[in-house]
Amino acid sequence: MFSWLNPLRKKSGEAPAIRGNQPTTAQIISRSEHGISRSSISENALKVLYRLNKAGYEAYLVGGGVRDLLLGREPKDFDVATDASPDEVRRLFRNCRLIGRRFRLAHVFFGRDIIEVATFRALADESEENDKAVSENGIVLRDNVYGSLEEDAWRRDFTVNALYYNIRDFSVVDYTGGMADLKAGRLRMIGDPYTRFREDPVRMLRAVRFAAKLGFRIDPQSERAIRELGYLLEEVASARLFDESLKLLLAGSGVATYELLRHYQLFGQLFPETEVALTEEEEHFPHTLLLHALENTDNRIAEDKPVTPAFLYAALLWQSVRSEAALFARKKMPPIQAMQLAGDAVVARQVKRVALPKRFSLQSREIWEWQERLKQNHGGRVFRLMEQKRFRAAYDFLLLRAGSGEPVEELAEWWGKFQDASEQTRQEMVRAGNKGGGGKKRRRRPPRKRPAPNRE
Ligand code: ATP
Ligand code: MG
Repeated sequence: MFSWLNPLRKKSGEAPAIRGNQPTTAQIISRSEHGISRSSISENALKVLYRLNKAGYEAYLVGGGVRDLLLGREPKDFDVATDASPDEVRRLFRNCRLIGRRFRLAHVFFGRDIIEVATFRALADESEENDKAVSENGIVLRDNVYGSLEEDAWRRDFTVNALYYNIRDFSVVDYTGGMADLKAGRLRMIGDPYTRFREDPVRMLRAVRFAAKLGFRIDPQSERAIRELGYLLEEVASARLFDESLKLLLAGSGVATYELLRHYQLFGQLFPETEVALTEEEEHFPHTLLLHALENTDNRIAEDKPVTPAFLYAALLWQSVRSEAALFARKKMPPIQAMQLAGDAVVARQVKRVALPKRFSLQSREIWEWQERLKQNHGGRVFRLMEQKRFRAAYDFLLLRAGSGEPVEELAEWWGKFQDASEQTRQEMVRAGNKGGGGKKRRRRPPRKRPAPNRE
């Protein structure tokens, strides 16, 4: 059904690129053989493609945009690949800025919409954030080498991400077998997974992200490599892991991604203390709380409501914070201060793995600290608490805890009722306060029996 052609003939005398046993010819899927219609491509992306093409350059839509369109999904963004150099791209578009230190990319601006235009390149590492000059574990250093379309295809991560939509004739160009994998629902790393994950360990997280989002299976060889090489994530810059954590957990498929991350033992690489809390299973709240937080996040995204990393990180680290705060409190530290100190300590340890920008960590800390403030629900301060801008997030977090089996249901109910109550009822409520403060203690699961200490 498909025609096998080589769309980009190499200059004579140049040796054809060999990738293992892979053919170097491309499969060209003509307009009539695939489902991408121009009407589903953003106008701005089309403008960029057409203008490049008119000026005599090759121009393709590539990456997630093509993949998602072929799957009938709405793409998150549209990336363009071209043989024009970044400077040539800049000359063509007034509304253009070049970014990137090691590898320059052009950003073409249309109001708030950005179309990223990348020049074809050979062999690459996407880790712009990686400042290391040399890596001990074989992580490839960025080299700023431009390449052909074919080379550009082979340096990409998964075959389904290496499909190119050609604006010249509306065909899809497939060098790596991405079309077949797309149809089979298979996520296959281009080249040897061990080498590719070593070059850039973040590709392991990307594998999980796409598998969760698309419902694809990771191919067995890549699966094996992920299980063996997960520890390499330790090498990755914490700022890059923060960006990646947002794409993993705050992009609409958080629950599925979280479950797969744990399945492949990558979750603990990002959130070591959370992983410990989850595996200890002494209490079941951490898992339930996290699942509920992720479910809420996914639902909000589906409804186009805003989400904040601060809330999700507050949930991710809550178990560590509350146990550490309990330790401080046992030493007779006032509860709010104990929570503040515990929050500081847990964040300080966590940011070594995954950076959390201050503007978010401050909010997470406030959410935790407010869990103590909300207990003080008597007297005039109650009215002041409710007026503050942190109240909403703190109350939502209290609800999350109550819904996960923590013994704070009564307190959460009290605050819910208080918000809806008439002025007179409110006055009565603050006089009575919440008797018992923390609500009744309830365990849903009997505590695990500890083995009797060995007395011999
Ligand atoms: P999304 O829907 O999340 O945007 P995407 O596939 O477009 O998914 P991007 O991060 O936008 O992902 O990257 C665009 C393309 O760049 C990818 O499809 C892939 O071809 C290539 N790419 C991105 N990161 C890497 C990487 N670490 N290694 C190799 N290729 C990569
Ligand atoms: Mg993309």
